[in-house]
Amino acid sequence: MKLSDYQLKNKIILVTGANQGIGKAASIRYASLGAKVILLGRNLESLEQVYDEIIKLKYNEPMISLMDLEKADGNDYQAIHENLMNEFGKLDGLLLNASILGDRSPIAHYDSETWARTIHVNLTAQFLLVKSLLPALYESDSASVIFTSSGVGKLGKAFWGAYSVSKFGVEALSQILSSEHEDQVNIRFNCINPGATRTKMRKEAYPYEDEMKLKKPDELMDKYTWLMSDESKKITGQSIDCQ
Ligand code: NDP
Repeated sequence: MKLSDYQLKNKIILVTGANQGIGKAASIRYASLGAKVILLGRNLESLEQVYDEIIKLKYNEPMISLMDLEKADGNDYQAIHENLMNEFGKLDGLLLNASILGDRSPIAHYDSETWARTIHVNLTAQFLLVKSLLPALYESDSASVIFTSSGVGKLGKAFWGAYSVSKFGVEALSQILSSEHEDQVNIRFNCINPGATRTKMRKEAYPYEDEMKLKKPDELMDKYTWLMSDESKKITGQSIDCQ
């Protein structure tokens, strides 16, 4: 299927961690297909760079939502929902992409504070965001929620600690939500696993790897687009591998 077949015209899509890596590539691709993209992240300067890039390409003007998922409280989640409803009256797509690596160390030596922070950003914040945005997603004719998983979200591996546990949790959260909405045809929940991709996080996890052998975020975007578009309307509760 050609990329042009995946139309996202007039869709309102929120992407977390939109300032770099896979989130940035998805934001630009979604905007190129006609979506209005809300760029969520904690670093204003790099979010503005993505905003400028989208404007320069003459795609739909995006919006910036400044939010630190580590520090956000109930008011922040309520505000993001209210702003969305006031501005658009609905949300059609949610790409839950932001996450942190935590420590790469054995459980015996895993730092407790890093454990709590990693579980919070990678799992609890995803729950809080999706929970607060469900009413806006229900207003869409066809909403797609995409959680970001990992190979270590399906198979526990030494030294992946809280990151792996958080990704297992994300897989469960997606399946639970899918099952809870099995009678609702206008909303679906899936996971995507990008696989080894040339980003800052990958470099942090594998500092000695030859990154030139890895796919760039842009090269994964057909699957990201398909899962966000109405082409995947019947797909729910699945975990999709990109590579
Ligand atoms: P990056 O490190 O490039 O991107 C991570 C994103 O998450 C950044 O935009 C980062 O923002 C954001 N983020 C982290 N903490 C917070 C926070 N507290 N509040 C708001 N935003 C935050 O990594 P990738 O692009 O590789 O990762 C994207 C997703 O893909 C992640 O969920 C990752 O687990 C997953 N993944 C990646 C793989 C890979 O090989 N690259 C393999 C498997 C899964 P900031 O720039 O401010 O830090």
